[in-house]
Amino acid sequence: MSDSAPKNPGEPDLHPEEGRGVSTTPFSPEGMTVTPVAPAAEEAPTLRCNRCNKPITPAEAILTPTGYRCRDCVNAQQKVFDTTKGFDLPLGFLISLGISIIGSRLTPYIGFFTIFLASGLGLLIFTLVNKWIKHRRNRKLRWVLAAGALIGSLPALVVLALPSFSFMLRTGNPASLTSVIWPLIYTLLITSSVFAQAK
Ligand SMILES: [Zn+2]
Repeated sequence: MSDSAPKNPGEPDLHPEEGRGVSTTPFSPEGMTVTPVAPAAEEAPTLRCNRCNKPITPAEAILTPTGYRCRDCVNAQQKVFDTTKGFDLPLGFLISLGISIIGSRLTPYIGFFTIFLASGLGLLIFTLVNKWIKHRRNRKLRWVLAAGALIGSLPALVVLALPSFSFMLRTGNPASLTSVIWPLIYTLLITSSVFAQAK
C-alpha cells in the first residue's frame, strides 16, 4: 500500500523493511492520529547478527558473550539449554518438597545445627534431582526446586510459630519467640541453598 501512496517530498526514501513502522491502516478509530514514524539515524541496521548474519539495528541487537545477535538467534539458543523432559520439573519439585518437609521436623531438636542441616539438605536436593533427571537442564529448575524447599519448610514453621505468637500475646513475654528462630533460619537457608546450587 505504501508503494502506491504518493511520497511526501520531505520524507526520507524508506527501504520497504524499514517502512513497516508507517501505519496506513484505514481501520484507525475516529479521532486517532496516525503519525508516520521515520526511522531515526541510530535505528538503521548497522550491525549484523554474528550467527545468522542478518542486518540488525543497535536497538534490537542483543550483546552475548560471543558478540551481537538477533532476537531470533538468542531465543533459539536458549531453547537448547532447556533439555528437561515432561516430568522432570514436577519430579524435582516433589523431591525438594519431601526432603524439606522431613528436615523441617528436626529443627526443634537440633537447634544451632539447623544451619548445617539446611545447607546440607540443599545440596542433597540438588544432587538427587540431578541424578534423577540425568543432568538435564532447565533455566526454571532452580526456581522450581527453591519453591519446593520453601513450601515444604512452611508447615513446621507455622506449627511452631503460631503457639509462640499466641503465648506472647497472652503473656506479653517475647521469650517464647526464640523457638521460632531455628525453623525460620531453616526456611531461609534451605531455600537459598537449593537456589544457589541449582544455577
Ligand atoms: Zn541471528
